[in-house]
Amino acid sequence: MQSACSQRSKLPDVGTTIFTVIGQLSAEHHALNLSQGAPNFACDVQLVEGVAQAMRAGHNQYAPMSGVAALRHALADKVERLYGARFDADDEITVIASASEGLYSAISALVHPGDEVTYFEPAFDSYAPIVRLQGATPVAIKLSLQDLTIDWDEVAAAINSKTRMIIVNSPHNPTGSVFTEHDIERLTALTRNTDIVILSDEVYEHVVFDGGIHHSMACHPALAERSVIVSSFGKTYHVTGWRVGYCMAPATLMEEIRKVHQFMVFSADTPMQYAFATALNNPQSYLGLAEFYQQKRDLLANALQSSRFELLPSRGSFFMLARFSGFSNESDNDFAVRLIREAKVATIPLSAFYSDGTDTGIIRLSFSKDNDTLLEGARRLCQV
Ligand code: GLN
Repeated sequence: MQSACSQRSKLPDVGTTIFTVIGQLSAEHHALNLSQGAPNFACDVQLVEGVAQAMRAGHNQYAPMSGVAALRHALADKVERLYGARFDADDEITVIASASEGLYSAISALVHPGDEVTYFEPAFDSYAPIVRLQGATPVAIKLSLQDLTIDWDEVAAAINSKTRMIIVNSPHNPTGSVFTEHDIERLTALTRNTDIVILSDEVYEHVVFDGGIHHSMACHPALAERSVIVSSFGKTYHVTGWRVGYCMAPATLMEEIRKVHQFMVFSADTPMQYAFATALNNPQSYLGLAEFYQQKRDLLANALQSSRFELLPSRGSFFMLARFSGFSNESDNDFAVRLIREAKVATIPLSAFYSDGTDTGIIRLSFSKDNDTLLEGARRLCQV
């Protein structure tokens, strides 16, 4: 239908997200999908049973705006046990309708027109558009693709009196890098005595490999007091379609975030919250995740050893980067599309994670897939 209204786009250069575009193309060509960071295997049946039980028990109406109390208390206990910080279940923890909603609510509540928000590219594709929708300016700092590290001197040079927020993400999508003690020290020093809020996307908090540790902002008091931590049940419990996550912040920041959350979604799905509250009683449900995904990373990396791709080291998350520029001059978009059409494997071109479309001849592979899919995907990629 032709619209009667002429429209000035708020995001003129944004198209449909790469995950949707590649997902559709992948389905059209019956390709194996190593693109989206979503499991293709089942979650624990107990979790499904927990949701069904909650529904049968009549928990089918709006949850409290901040989330089901049992879940917020279970989260406060879990976070204190793992990371040392005690967040108040009433004032400092909110259950959100996906980590994406939490990111949106936090940025929209805390960032004002004219502010600058520093973040690191390659980056998850929603950060910069959300900042721009607030009339603020996203300031991208590029990670080194040699060693996937942050040049903190460059960050120091980019920070100024307009900087309102720094968005960090460890374990990192799409590179699989993980914050070190050094990153924490530099971030602490850079933000000390400022009003800068840290928005910490920690959705892969339980997926750190090779015995490494997750540096949650909640582990470091000087960072926790200025941080909004966003995490996700979808990534941890293999249920990305349930759209439930949680957000933690000091009470004064949380008060503002809830003002947006309440008008965006009001509350997250009720029966799922009861099921997660029960699941959190069993720490093995999240503590076993690193080992589980490390085996998948290793399976895929080993199966790709005879391929022509150069794999970059993945220390966490669901992702691994693969460089193809050693054997093809194609743009990463053309290459990814050809992989779908010819090799029947879907991946994400890394340029999708750069606001300026920087093309480094690299694709992102997701290993959040069952082992048969990973082995068959690798077999196909070895023939490229
Ligand atoms: N976080 C997942 C990824 O990076 C999925 C994101 C999405 O589909 N919106 O692949």
